[in-house]
Amino acid sequence: MNKNKVVLVTGGSRGIGADIVKQLATDGYNVILNYNKSEQTAKKIQEDLLKYQEKNIEIFKADVTKREEVKSLIEFCIKKFGKLDVLINNAGISQIKVFTDITDEDWNMMLQTNLTSCFYTTQESLKYMINSKQGCIINISSIWGSIGASCEVHYSVSKAGLDAMTKSLAKELGPSNIRVNSIAPGIINTEMNSELTEEDLKNIAQEIPLQKIGYPQSITNCVKWLIEDDYTTGQIISVNGGWSI
Ligand code: NAP
Repeated sequence: MNKNKVVLVTGGSRGIGADIVKQLATDGYNVILNYNKSEQTAKKIQEDLLKYQEKNIEIFKADVTKREEVKSLIEFCIKKFGKLDVLINNAGISQIKVFTDITDEDWNMMLQTNLTSCFYTTQESLKYMINSKQGCIINISSIWGSIGASCEVHYSVSKAGLDAMTKSLAKELGPSNIRVNSIAPGIINTEMNSELTEEDLKNIAQEIPLQKIGYPQSITNCVKWLIEDDYTTGQIISVNGGWSI
């Protein structure tokens, strides 16, 4: 494990992103936690980690839907650590609505947050990764990007787009020694699913071969493996308890 690696996690303040940040910083990677609204939570994660670690965790506020803020975020990483080895495009939103009720605003916000943001972060990061002839980009996609979800059409479209970006970029960037992969979680216990009741979660678990809801740690384990691997690219890796077999 190369602990000198610099890793940026977008949406690292809560849920899956926060778990990735805590684990990678604990493992000794240099981590930049990006957040947007959850400033107190981001600061608390940093404080807690600094109690036990050397100074290897930085936090930076940026709304990833805005090109200029993303530019500042990437420049911050380079200023602090001198390089960027791993970009984890994790920030995302979800919404449950029947297709006929989705407004232009809902649609645009979903695509901007889950897909266009990754266009921004990836383009800005590549300015540095291509020069250094190495890099690892991990897109946190979703099971719904591959199989589609009823009442989440805009969400599913955003993740399908992200998976297409993963595959296309892997082909384009392979010769520059930059790997691009998606991790497609099934259902993971985070605030994103706070609209679901205990009963809903129980019913969903019964549909899953492993008979349980996932936890962020399963996604983090896959992230850790992808960071250290050197021969996997262009893949959509399902971490979903067998839900999409
Ligand atoms: P979550 O608990 O709701 O956390 C979402 C994170 O995204 C927060 O840290 C939030 O930061 C950040 N974020 C949202 N909009 C942002 C913006 N404009 N700029 C910067 N950060 C922004 O969600 P989660 O469950 O951890 O989901 C993480 C990723 O996994 C998402 O891409 C999601 O689609 C995907 N995923 C989740 C599940 C699941 O079941 N949970 C399943 C499949 C895929 P602030 O609070 O600081 O704004």
